Amino acid sequence: NTRIVLAARPQGRPKPTDFRIETVDAPQPAEGEVLLKILYLSLDPYMRGRMNDAKSYAKPVDIGAVMEGGTVAEVIASRNPKFAVGDVVLSHSGWQSFAISDGAGLRKLDASAAPLTTALGVLGMPGFTAYAGLLTIGKPQPGETVVVAAASGAVGSVVGQIARIKGSRAVGIAGGPEKCAFVRDELGFDAVVDHRSPDFAAELAAACPDGIDVYFENVGGHVWDAVFPLLNEFARIPVCGLIAQYNATEHAGTDRLPTMMREVLSRSLNIRGFIQREFVDQRKDFYRDMAGWIADGAVRYREDIVDGLENAPQAFMGLLEGKNFGKLVVRVAA
Ligand code: NDP
Repeated sequence: NTRIVLAARPQGRPKPTDFRIETVDAPQPAEGEVLLKILYLSLDPYMRGRMNDAKSYAKPVDIGAVMEGGTVAEVIASRNPKFAVGDVVLSHSGWQSFAISDGAGLRKLDASAAPLTTALGVLGMPGFTAYAGLLTIGKPQPGETVVVAAASGAVGSVVGQIARIKGSRAVGIAGGPEKCAFVRDELGFDAVVDHRSPDFAAELAAACPDGIDVYFENVGGHVWDAVFPLLNEFARIPVCGLIAQYNATEHAGTDRLPTMMREVLSRSLNIRGFIQREFVDQRKDFYRDMAGWIADGAVRYREDIVDGLENAPQAFMGLLEGKNFGKLVVRVAA
């Protein structure tokens, strides 16, 4: 069994020595358990938070423990009557090639219904995050302007496409011309702005002539600075992620909180953070709606598949710098 453990807590950007590859004996299932062979591992921004020893909504990964993560796996031995050898499941087995499970939390997947990797992306946690956060908090209305950053990525790509399904105008923000072209031409956003452009703030303002009614926050940092002045009265801001700040070791600049709070008040802004699992009771609706939208072409998706578990640390470090293009997945053994 090959596995990747947390070797050290990163200071700022993670580096290769913060991870360690280990080879250990393959685990054996006890009564009631199954042995899983990991086929695909999802790499997601939240994993950066789990590497810190700080109080958060979830417990950190211990030093020396296997890095956490969502996985698609095949049952290769079963001592649990609910699972048969050959079943393919969604599990949370982490960065390793084999794992034991008692069956709790496993969801069987149908490989004939959708490509297995989609269970980690558009039909999985990131797609659900977009769906629940946008519809429940953002509440996009016909004719409104919805802005989302990291727009070519797992969450942002879905946010913009659902906004369009609901009749809103979708404006994406992405890094670099290739991602911007994809967001506009392949995903069908109404406009897209490159956050690396020196005139980014002015270009965003030009792309939002009627202001911004919903800003789905994935990024923070300089993107939020450009968005904030454009927010309309009663704008809704689902705060989903702040990836630009995940590697930060200190807070930048002067204290802008009083100014921001004044605007929150005077523009009646509704800024609401969320973690997707709070909306768990919407999962059934999500699977139904998203499967339909993919089938009729209203939602498209792109995956960035990296070969080999040993390449997971490098790919993960790249995710925090925008090197991925689409939902980042590691092919472990498929
Ligand atoms: P993506 O697939 O979008 O990949 C991350 C992207 O973020 C990069 O490709 C890059 O896109 C952008 N990015 C990275 N660093 C920076 C930076 N310094 N400044 C600006 N942009 C940057 O990731 P996901 O779709 O999986 O996640 C998007 C956000 O959603 C994250 O913040 C994540 O933490 C959050 N999230 C929150 C959940 C919740 O329950 N609240 C659940 C799932 C995700 P580009 O090159 O275009 O800038």
